[in-house]
Amino acid sequence: AAKKAGRGRILAFHHGLEDEINERRFIEQELRLALAEDGLTVAYQPIVAGDGLRMVGAEALVRWKHVVRGNIPPGVFVPVAEQAGLMIELGEFVLRRALADARDWPELFIAINLSPIQVRDRGLVRTVASALADPGIDPSRVVLEITEGVLIDNPEDAKQRLKELRALGVKIALDDFGSGYSSLSYLRRLPIDKLKIDKEFVAPLGRSANGGVILQAIVALGRALGLSVLAEGVETEEQRLLLRLAGCDEMQGYLFARPMPAAAFREMMGRGLVLPGTALGDGDDLV
Ligand code: C2E
Ligand code: MG
Ligand code: MG
Ligand code: MG
Repeated sequence: AAKKAGRGRILAFHHGLEDEINERRFIEQELRLALAEDGLTVAYQPIVAGDGLRMVGAEALVRWKHVVRGNIPPGVFVPVAEQAGLMIELGEFVLRRALADARDWPELFIAINLSPIQVRDRGLVRTVASALADPGIDPSRVVLEITEGVLIDNPEDAKQRLKELRALGVKIALDDFGSGYSSLSYLRRLPIDKLKIDKEFVAPLGRSANGGVILQAIVALGRALGLSVLAEGVETEEQRLLLRLAGCDEMQGYLFARPMPAAAFREMMGRGLVLPGTALGDGDDLV
């Protein structure tokens, strides 16, 4: 548990603004090197069908193991990449690696996170088309995950970009739904196919009598809008049962499996199926 609490707290270990600025500068420099020297990897976390028993897809999650610091979580270095002008390069690395790896598990869809900075980039559609063409991936197997952050700045531009992506044949998911501050009206305005309900709404399931009220409402809302609904952060059997009752289409969480390196994912696919608990680790990602 102590180990868990320590992750993502790199900035908090130091005191004062100056240390924080130095830390950020350090991460930025080291990240530049990692990008140049092939120091980043991509981990994959299974996504299971609503019954929680059958694997249907995987989410690609970027990983960075620093020689001295060890694993630095994306929650720390992705924001630095965004601020330092490195996000387009990082994003393209993940796209190409994930789509190349996904060739090895043709029966699954592959979900890839896009930063709002990538969605703003005029070159994105061409990059995605090229990353699909190289390994010859069927676009209908690909889900691009965006966040409501794409609506800051220029919502019309973002909407246009998403339409162009969909025209390639890929699907769009709205990630971390419910965790932000926007109004619900953007749900109708954005061209999306899927809702990923933030773990914040999954965590209370089973803890209190009305812990599932908001979750049920979100599932119903997604359904009414014709969207597929996925619940993130499923950690307990009780949550799985309640989500199944609520009518969730898909689930993802430590109950089923943690993110794992491509080699481990391939090996698991070789064994056939994922059942709750089969691929569970206890602390960090399976490495
Ligand atoms: P996300 O896209 O919402 O990804 C889900 C996060 O929840 C992952 O954290 C995953 O390891 C974690 N998770 C999965 N199941 C459980 C569970 O049962 N319980 C809990 N507590 N957590 C669970 P991770 O890999 O640290 O990534 C954090 C965030 O960093 C991602 O959230 C995403 O916003 C961002 N990120 C990761 N990889 C990329 C990437 O390649 N590109 C971009 N733009 N962002 C990325
Ligand atoms: Mg995601
Ligand atoms: Mg999410
Ligand atoms: Mg998240």
